[in-house]
Amino acid sequence: MKEFEFIEWIKAQVHASSGACASADVVLGIGDDCALIRPDAHDLLAISTDTLVAGTHFYAGTDPLAIGHKAAASNLSDLAAMGAKPIWCTLALTLPSWDETLACGIVSGVLQVLHRCGAVLVGGDTTRGPLSITLTVGGSVPENLAIKRSGAKVGDAVFVTGTLGDAGGGLQLKRQLRAEISLSEAQKFGFIEAASSEAQAVLMARLDRPTARVQFAQRLRGIASAALDVSDGFLQDLTHLCQQSSVGALINAAALPLSSSLLACFELSAARTLACSAGEDYELCFTASSLHADALVQSAADCGLRLTQVGLICTAPLAEPLVQCWSSDGVLPQSGARGFQHF
Ligand code: ADP
Ligand code: MG
Repeated sequence: MKEFEFIEWIKAQVHASSGACASADVVLGIGDDCALIRPDAHDLLAISTDTLVAGTHFYAGTDPLAIGHKAAASNLSDLAAMGAKPIWCTLALTLPSWDETLACGIVSGVLQVLHRCGAVLVGGDTTRGPLSITLTVGGSVPENLAIKRSGAKVGDAVFVTGTLGDAGGGLQLKRQLRAEISLSEAQKFGFIEAASSEAQAVLMARLDRPTARVQFAQRLRGIASAALDVSDGFLQDLTHLCQQSSVGALINAAALPLSSSLLACFELSAARTLACSAGEDYELCFTASSLHADALVQSAADCGLRLTQVGLICTAPLAEPLVQCWSSDGVLPQSGARGFQHF
């Protein structure tokens, strides 16, 4: 298989996977110089791009399906954060050398995730260079219902979906396996050596195969006052929301939703540190009036999701940080742990 056969193969896979459920908005997909999309006249088009680079976002040698899966989920998570419905995606794939298993595995991983939320791969590019995957996704959201970061109001409750810190725990475990972190360093941080291999596998799977909260996000339209996805660390991401809304937030560390797997692998304080500052969970953090709390919890449960109120929006404090963390049971995350930045 060479480049052009590869593109033909992708085209066939797209037809096989999206076939009958291909979005009506996609007029022309892979094969021409451009894809053609016809967005609904009443909707806004939400667009987002994310790149995954080998060595930065995943280890070389990661299962190609998982690489594709994560690339798609991280992009779809941005659409979810705006309350948008995914429609289309493009895939720019850069490979160091021709490797059919790697190339086809990545595309298959992308297609599996897109298929689950009804989005179609409509084009892309295939080039030679250091391994990286760039996806651009497009989705639709009715005008006035896009959920921005800037709408949080004093008195709103802060909610998060799912559990926090699992992907960060998974990364720490992978780094231990690769001897980038010694056992004594890991134990000093709070790693529990007796943790079962099942619990460890759950955390590593959350790192490799995150799930974008696409379905539940669309139920937040008109209810959430502001939202974003948790990709670079909860406290840091929430700080961005607070900056754009000109508010502060008060978070109860004891309310942060932690999985039983995370608690099996890490002491409570370390688990809370991961929940506050580790990235790549791709959960949603949003604000809404607490009057909606019960209905939201039920709505999330209908989507198979846990939903937790973790704090309140308050007036912006005069001094940094905008997001203050306290703990009703006295167990705080390590101070200074806030989030990830590339530079
Ligand atoms: P051009 O030279 O006009 O950019 P290409 O040969 O790069 O065309 O691509 C041919 C067609 O295949 C285009 O429709 C393009 O969108 C699609 N394509 C190329 N690479 C990929 C890929 N990795 N994933 C999806 N579609 C791709
Ligand atoms: Mg091209």
